[in-house]
Amino acid sequence: MPSTQDLPHTSDGLFERALDILPAGVSSPVRAFGAVGGRPLFITSGSGSRLVDVDGREYIDLVMSWGPLLHGHAHPQIVGAIEESSRRGTTFGAPTAVEVELALTIRALMPSLEMLRFTSSGTEATMSALRLARAFTGRRIIAKFDGCYHGHVDALLVKAGSGALTHGSPTSSGVPQEVAEATRSLRYNDLRQVEELMRAEAGGVAAIIVEPVAGNMGTVPPAPGFLQGLRRLTREHGALLIFDEVITGFRLGPGGAQGRYGIRPDMTCLGKIIGGGLPAAAFGGRRDIMQLLSPLGPVYQAGTLSGNPVAMAAGAASLRLAGGARYAQLEQLATALQGGLLDEASAAGVELTVNREGSMLSVFFGAGPVTDLDSAQACDTVRYAAFFRAMLESGIYLPPSQFETWMLSFAHTSADVEAVVSAAGAAFRSTAKAPG
Ligand code: PMP
Repeated sequence: MPSTQDLPHTSDGLFERALDILPAGVSSPVRAFGAVGGRPLFITSGSGSRLVDVDGREYIDLVMSWGPLLHGHAHPQIVGAIEESSRRGTTFGAPTAVEVELALTIRALMPSLEMLRFTSSGTEATMSALRLARAFTGRRIIAKFDGCYHGHVDALLVKAGSGALTHGSPTSSGVPQEVAEATRSLRYNDLRQVEELMRAEAGGVAAIIVEPVAGNMGTVPPAPGFLQGLRRLTREHGALLIFDEVITGFRLGPGGAQGRYGIRPDMTCLGKIIGGGLPAAAFGGRRDIMQLLSPLGPVYQAGTLSGNPVAMAAGAASLRLAGGARYAQLEQLATALQGGLLDEASAAGVELTVNREGSMLSVFFGAGPVTDLDSAQACDTVRYAAFFRAMLESGIYLPPSQFETWMLSFAHTSADVEAVVSAAGAAFRSTAKAPG
């Protein structure tokens, strides 16, 4: 049997071996660095805001595992909770106190989740939420928005963002036509299209699912009134409003996007932060909807590792550590990063748009504004790739695609932000004449 000792000790060497056994050498597409060129780094450890790869280089991490690490890598209290919990057993397939604790904590922070069920991934959460929405309404059509990503659920891989977009297959092959046909993808921030759909499909739309702040075409905040408009239109037409807060939940503030914008969706999907870095996600919402779930009702949904006690302990520790005042500091840090990037770009004569909401941020090489998928795709991804490589060279680990969100954490410091801004200034100057 092979052991890691026998494998190469460099990223390049490991990647060679991985390519033969894991498609594209990775377990999830964007990790392959396909959009930015170069080869992925193999990581050995992380601490706070820093990552270390097998080649012994240290990076300031702005990916943060794509969102779960609100407290940075290996936070002592979260690691402690994982150690303590795992010593008592790693999975029982039976109820535990800590899943009740985490569920109650989530509801206290996000009261719209009157009841919730845990899953192991965001994909399962959105998939189950759709099934429930269709059962509850007795309707078939699901509306989503171009460039939003809700996991790799068949019905939601239509004009999807994130890796699907990065790799040029926003509508995945292998999704049956009849499944894709029941999904309507509309322009983000365009209420008129929503209104038209609701009128055209009178009584046919089961739910609208939305990233309340889009994070998977790069960061794209909702236009003023967009989310309120969705709430009004879904109510008027008897459809459910599902907020996919897998990224925004407990990132945009203690109440997530729904707390920030004061909107009560019918259902919410959560993931990432609620697992504290271990696999956990959830979907929840109105009690009358959630009571349709098996075994209370006829909608089947289950999971061997759902509510896994170690993941629940990590998530509970993560939410316990996240206080309201700290979000304000985090936002200040993100604002400083946004301002610094814009100043450096302007000094280097680079046309840059920086979208930010809370601690979610993305740069787009173009004049902007970036308000939807078309305007995100109009930006210069070749330029982003050159920028990404220059930043990596300077020890800054950015998302390997323009269509992803940079994540700050409570572990990042002003010194980190200054280092990122200074590296960006040099990268803007050195890539100012990049092709494209
Ligand atoms: N929804 C959103 C908004 C996401 O960003 C993601 C993953 N990045 C998902 C759902 C799917 O979550 P998972 O990768 O855990 O299946």
